[in-house]
Amino acid sequence: AKEAGKNNCQFYTKGMNATAVNYLLLENDLRRALELNQFTLHYQPQIDLKTGELMGVEALVRWQHPERGLVSPAHFIPLAEETGLIVPIGEWVLREACRQQKIWLDAGKKVGKIAVNLSPRQFRQKNFPGKVEAILRETQLAPEYLELEITESCAMEHAGETINQLNQLNQMGMYLAIDDFGTGYSSLAYLQRFPIQKLKIDRSFVNDIHDDMNDAAITKTIIGLAHSMQLRVVAEGVETEHQAEWLRQRGCDQAQGFLYAKPMSPKQFESHFHGGRFC
Ligand code: C2E
Ligand code: CA
Ligand code: CA
Ligand code: CA
Repeated sequence: AKEAGKNNCQFYTKGMNATAVNYLLLENDLRRALELNQFTLHYQPQIDLKTGELMGVEALVRWQHPERGLVSPAHFIPLAEETGLIVPIGEWVLREACRQQKIWLDAGKKVGKIAVNLSPRQFRQKNFPGKVEAILRETQLAPEYLELEITESCAMEHAGETINQLNQLNQMGMYLAIDDFGTGYSSLAYLQRFPIQKLKIDRSFVNDIHDDMNDAAITKTIIGLAHSMQLRVVAEGVETEHQAEWLRQRGCDQAQGFLYAKPMSPKQFESHFHGGRFC
């Protein structure tokens, strides 16, 4: 802990203000959170815009902190990424999501694919495909029930390596999606070489489709781009029926957002799930 503290001080030489101290406290807590079993996953549905059917669920991590309460991933994922703690945390997330999916499948609950977010450091590990394989074997989950999401910026940063890694995962039979699409700088030449099945339009565009002509134009372009590459396209952050209708009319395949549901605990999720639909 002392060593970690030292690194952190070096990192924050610009002045140990309240935020930096807070960050240090958080890092120490974060190190212990896995042992203390303080992480949980919440699940958010992805809905087919034409049929209303449930197509999948995205697993989103939360930290149940004894004093701070439920901590949002936006507050600890960047720190976890920086310290490398994201590797064991991400592994826990993947295992837990696969375990939950297997339970739902065995109970006859077809929630579609379970989507798991990968952080760059986790995805870039040389033996990452092997780790996924081991987790699938351990949880006895068939790969077709799993989907992995990497962000556009992560995918494009070392695009050559990305292709290698995605090819291995694709050959194992799982689905692959590019997250937060539209926020990074995509090379279309690379995008075409990625063996992926899905693009997720970032919610900053979806949010403003009715107020901002640029965002509407970008959203339309992404839908067209996805379809020209035979990819499914999902709009994130859909909050109103008006937005859903706009997306449906322009051929967007799926939607995810507060209009349908906030991310929920497995119990909450099950209480809204009836006969293949989410209500
Ligand atoms: P993301 O992957 O883009 O996940 C979607 C985020 O948008 C979630 O925030 C979700 O709660 C939020 N969201 C969904 N629908 C709406 C909506 O209609 N309106 C608004 N305003 N927001 C909506 P959350 O759960 O706080 O996660 C934030 C980010 O943290 C995620 O963004 C992802 O980048 C990261 N994250 C979450 N779980 C994991 C994880 O297990 N591993 C990794 N590496 N990152 C994760
Ligand atoms: Ca995501
Ligand atoms: Ca996203
Ligand atoms: Ca905007």
